[in-house]
Amino acid sequence: MRHYDVIVIGAGIGGLVTATQLAAKGIKVLVLERYVIPGGSAGYFERNGYRFDVGASMIFGFGKKGTTNLLTRALEAVGVELETIPDPVQIYYHLPNGLEIKVHRDYEKFLEELYRYFPEEKEGIKGFYDECWQVFNALNSIELLSLEEIRYLIRVFFQNPGACLRLLKYLPLNVGDVARKYIKNPELLKFIDIECYCWSTVPADLTPMINAGMVFSDRHYGGINYPKGGVGKIAEKLVEGLIRHGGEIQYGARVTEILVQYGQAVGVKLANGKEYYAERIVSNATRWDTFDGLLKKHKKPRRERQWQKNYRQSPSFLSLHLGVNGELFGANKPECHHILLENWENMEGEQGTIFVSVPTVLDPSLAPEGYHIIHTFTPSSIEYWQGLSRKQYEYRKEEAAGRIIERLEAIFPGLDSHLDYMEVGTPLTHRRFLGRINGTYGPIPARRLPGLLAMPFNRTSIKNLYCVGDSTFPGQGLNAVAFSGFSCAHRIAVDLGYY
Ligand SMILES: Cc1cc2nc3c(=O)[nH]c(=O)nc-3n(C[C@H](O)[C@H](O)[C@H](O)COP(=O)(O)OP(=O)(O)OC[C@H]3O[C@@H](n4cnc5c(N)ncnc54)[C@H](O)[C@@H]3O)c2cc1C
Repeated sequence: MRHYDVIVIGAGIGGLVTATQLAAKGIKVLVLERYVIPGGSAGYFERNGYRFDVGASMIFGFGKKGTTNLLTRALEAVGVELETIPDPVQIYYHLPNGLEIKVHRDYEKFLEELYRYFPEEKEGIKGFYDECWQVFNALNSIELLSLEEIRYLIRVFFQNPGACLRLLKYLPLNVGDVARKYIKNPELLKFIDIECYCWSTVPADLTPMINAGMVFSDRHYGGINYPKGGVGKIAEKLVEGLIRHGGEIQYGARVTEILVQYGQAVGVKLANGKEYYAERIVSNATRWDTFDGLLKKHKKPRRERQWQKNYRQSPSFLSLHLGVNGELFGANKPECHHILLENWENMEGEQGTIFVSVPTVLDPSLAPEGYHIIHTFTPSSIEYWQGLSRKQYEYRKEEAAGRIIERLEAIFPGLDSHLDYMEVGTPLTHRRFLGRINGTYGPIPARRLPGLLAMPFNRTSIKNLYCVGDSTFPGQGLNAVAFSGFSCAHRIAVDLGYY
């Protein structure tokens, strides 16, 4: 039984950024990860010479300037580096009524694409996206740390009162309200919906303006950059930095209980019966897995009950990890990321919107020579996959995969005949390997909420217990959970007297 300053449950990007930030300050940290590698939803797996990303592949936060490039900064803080490859197009949308739009890294070039389809909305388009820049510029001019730390808030406010007031104004706003101020065309408003949906998994009316400001601007500022060697490298590098700074990590270490004494979190118990103790405990599991699982012996705090009323679990995904013969693309390499939707009605439906990533156009080393990876996924609920016999489950997987491949033929003609390898993951797979309740992508508003105001920060109602990751402010996505990691580590360091 050893005693640490901080124990972090989970080596997702949120947990690892917290751990590395703390270790860099000389704080003694232990990370306990249930799986055999770090990264969680930003992990990877290898099959037949292919290195597949399990989830995330459109990576924000790797810019070289400003303050919002949190992945770059997290790696730098522990003295490690990762080569990245710039992606010239964030997404190539293939939408109903022949709407084919590329979101170029170059902002003006992207706007031109929209003007071409909606010339009468030129002013509105510019007005809306320019307003998103206002949010981004404010975020990008301040140091991003814990909003629960009053001295930091005062310091930042006096350094940049204009930016802080602007952020306060946008904090309770959702994208839909701002978009409708500028845009009237219903189809263009649908486009704004899918612009939000493809990372927030909810339409514009439920998507906070702060997050949209980040995403819709940073893609043109820091840009989308793919880590060389695959997304899994981010977590591997963070672990390297953690260990270099005296931190420890254990794999195959599934925490089954957070130990609480006299109302304070004091340690954790593992599935193998081992117990570890620390001054502070951080959970990188989702809030549902934390409060309904690791703390199930304890009455759920009122704040958590309220949070569960405000937020529900977004569906999980049906994922196809495909290896394809490179002849499929011929001499015309496709863009890396695509979104395919044939009918607006299906945007949020079961297996409606299809997400595609072809990371090998940026980094060919992820596949055997002459071959490519196509990672494609579509939202799917766990209910669709439950209560089936093994045979029915396999049949349903095959059937669903066949449907997706057929639909993808619209953007990759000949896909079926060029398949070399296929691995299908369902919500059950996501739940099993990512340890996330029902395999959920993350929390989404259960109803219209005032922007990000209802999203909790890192401290919880249980003394010395903190949460980090996508069920804390500011939500899903690697750069967002990195933000949550920076702020969690800052809050803990202050609480331990390191500031
Ligand atoms: C299919 C898919 C595609 C995505 N695409 C993108 C994208 O393109 N760009 C982007 O920015 N984001 C994307 N995301 C979202 C992004 O991956 C997540 O928001 C982010 O990785 C979540 O990080 P996290 O640290 O909060 O949690 P997680 O990644 O879930 O990490 C939590 C870690 O905790 C461990 N853990 C949980 N419980 C325990 C326990 N009891 N004991 C020990 N360890 C435990 C888990 O094993 C896991 O490693 C995608 C997600 C998915 C699923």
